[in-house]
Amino acid sequence: MRTIGRWRILEAIAACLCVMTCAAQDISVSNQLNVLLSRQGVVKIVLGTFSGTLEVAGKNRLILEAGDRQLAAPMISTSVSIHGSSDGSLVAVAAGEKWQAPVIRVRADEGLVFRNRLYWGTLRFLAVREGVQVVNEIFLEDYLACVLEAEIGEAPLEALKAQAVVARSEVVHKLATGRHTKEGFDLCAGEHCMAYKGAEGVTPAMRKACYETRGIVLTAGGKILDAVFHNMCGGITACAEDVWDSPHIAGLDSVWDGLRAHAAPMFRSEEEVSDFLASPPQGIFCCPEENTLPSYARKYFRWTRRLDNAELIRRCGAPLRDIRILERRPSGRVRKLALVTAAGTRVIEKELPIRRLFDLPSGFFILRVERDAAGIRSVEFRGAGSGHGVGLCQMGAWSMASKGFGFQAILEHYYPNARLSQIYR
Ligand SMILES: [Zn+2]
Ligand SMILES: [Zn+2]
Repeated sequence: MRTIGRWRILEAIAACLCVMTCAAQDISVSNQLNVLLSRQGVVKIVLGTFSGTLEVAGKNRLILEAGDRQLAAPMISTSVSIHGSSDGSLVAVAAGEKWQAPVIRVRADEGLVFRNRLYWGTLRFLAVREGVQVVNEIFLEDYLACVLEAEIGEAPLEALKAQAVVARSEVVHKLATGRHTKEGFDLCAGEHCMAYKGAEGVTPAMRKACYETRGIVLTAGGKILDAVFHNMCGGITACAEDVWDSPHIAGLDSVWDGLRAHAAPMFRSEEEVSDFLASPPQGIFCCPEENTLPSYARKYFRWTRRLDNAELIRRCGAPLRDIRILERRPSGRVRKLALVTAAGTRVIEKELPIRRLFDLPSGFFILRVERDAAGIRSVEFRGAGSGHGVGLCQMGAWSMASKGFGFQAILEHYYPNARLSQIYR
């Protein structure tokens, strides 16, 4: 086994997984592991590009690298200010001294405070055209503990562990796809990649969840799974092709979120969806009536959003003559919605554009249209859940953990065709 940094990649497991790997695929498990090795376990998260003078404070003595020089010895300061200079590089000022370099790195043993947030690892400052780009270079396992804080909060331990495995898998998958490589970092700190707000609020349980699942990921089809997750499915999860421009992804399947038999969910009519939304069957894991869940869960399990004529005109750009669901996926998600106005018929496709147009928590809804002689008076969206609905349902995982299920059982429930592998210790 090779040991790199704090990492010991389990080559035996890697070799075993590679047997399943199609040689022609760009992103095989071996490719994904190589990406991790090349980074020595460190991921780069962009915090943003800022102008003006940036202040960084350390909980103890700062260590500064300006260009090739590491400046620990002269630094007695616990704060440094950094700004751009006229020649396009950066200037760092601390303890009355000044350093100039195109890239400046700052770290401190117990973390750094930048823009009122605590960060572990190193902050890298780089002069770019728009200002100063700030990237947090942090060990993956430390980053995951922070992701737990931002993405699920103080859930029971086994739910935190399930979320840690899911986030680890998704991050490793994303690293290998290089979605932000050209921009000089691995991931952004927003919804596009994963919510990240630094280390403030990370609890011992969150650290423990990462430690006890260290190196464990979900794999399917010879790859580490892009194990996406969402807040609440409403009773049924979706598969990738229901909500995105995506073929079927091995390991991401639609499941009933409850103790019912695990047949693939299959709505065949609007009436079936309507009944399911109005009277959900007993035993749904993310149902807040039956389970101990945070109070915000009540807002989303079943929701109604009513838009009057004026609001519809504002959102659709013209008075609506009709609105129809053209395609609904077997998991209940609306795939195509037709809007008929005097200008013609506009088809809105995919869950996110539909949700954004009408500001809906999810794409799992039915329509109730109220008309009068003049046309449509209002449209009511009656729906379930929040988020895209694919992969782990966080609220379902939360209640499964409260009922005594372990993280393996939780993951087996949401990803029935994936398996767990430990890729490093
Ligand atoms: Zn991103
Ligand atoms: Zn659910």
